Amino acid sequence: MGSGSAANIARGAHATNLVITKQPEEETPGEVYRSRSRKKLLFAFLIITLVLIILAPGIFYFFINYTPYGYREKVMYNYGFTAKARNYLRSETTVDVMNLSEKKPFGFTHSGYWKPGSKNVKLNTASDEVAIHEFAHAWWETLRVDPKTKKALVDDTIKLSNITDKVYYQAVKRAQWVVHTYCSCSDTELVDYEKVDDHHFYAFMADFTMGKFKTGTHKLPEFMWKYFDGLFSNNLKIAPCYETKSCYFPDNNDYSCIPTYKALL
Ligand SMILES: [Zn+2]
Repeated sequence: MGSGSAANIARGAHATNLVITKQPEEETPGEVYRSRSRKKLLFAFLIITLVLIILAPGIFYFFINYTPYGYREKVMYNYGFTAKARNYLRSETTVDVMNLSEKKPFGFTHSGYWKPGSKNVKLNTASDEVAIHEFAHAWWETLRVDPKTKKALVDDTIKLSNITDKVYYQAVKRAQWVVHTYCSCSDTELVDYEKVDDHHFYAFMADFTMGKFKTGTHKLPEFMWKYFDGLFSNNLKIAPCYETKSCYFPDNNDYSCIPTYKALL
């Protein structure tokens, strides 16, 4: 056993020598450089990703609250714009807001501006009422291309202005005002559609509903829904201003519930 063990130890030692002497192939200086570069790049990528993850909530907060495009996202979300309308406004139009920190409208016009064909919505302030009005202009621009749709909106608004169902009291009042102001017709039986300001038939009805056009006190009768179905989902995340009596434009408020509403006008 003694001599056998000695032989085994000798064989083991020999085998160990073989393993030790088999050195791995050494990397060339070029490979070492490339390997280090890859590690540095990966490290930098990880650091940037980590920084972005840490800053993401802040960037999102800044975008939503301090940029015109963030404000537009907020309006579209709060008032339930359809996915189709959101995508259209994002991809086909630009938006400017002069004073984002002010909610109250100001200016000689409706505190905003949409010039047909301009693809740009200009807002003087971050007024939701004005924003919806101007976004509605931008959306109607695509619908009015079809002369039948344009004519049908005018005809249906005139029809709405004549209905006597008290359930639609507010909508009828708005329709009467729109027809009176933008039809340019003394007789609604003889309408010259070339003279009608159909853009304001649409935009003023849109800001009247603030996106809630199927339910509530500013709901429209069903024959009007087809014009607003593409723009609004009727699924709002906030209460429209007329429900909280907080609209800046008095005629947007649900003043049938305020006995002294005339004092506001
Ligand atoms: Zn307008």
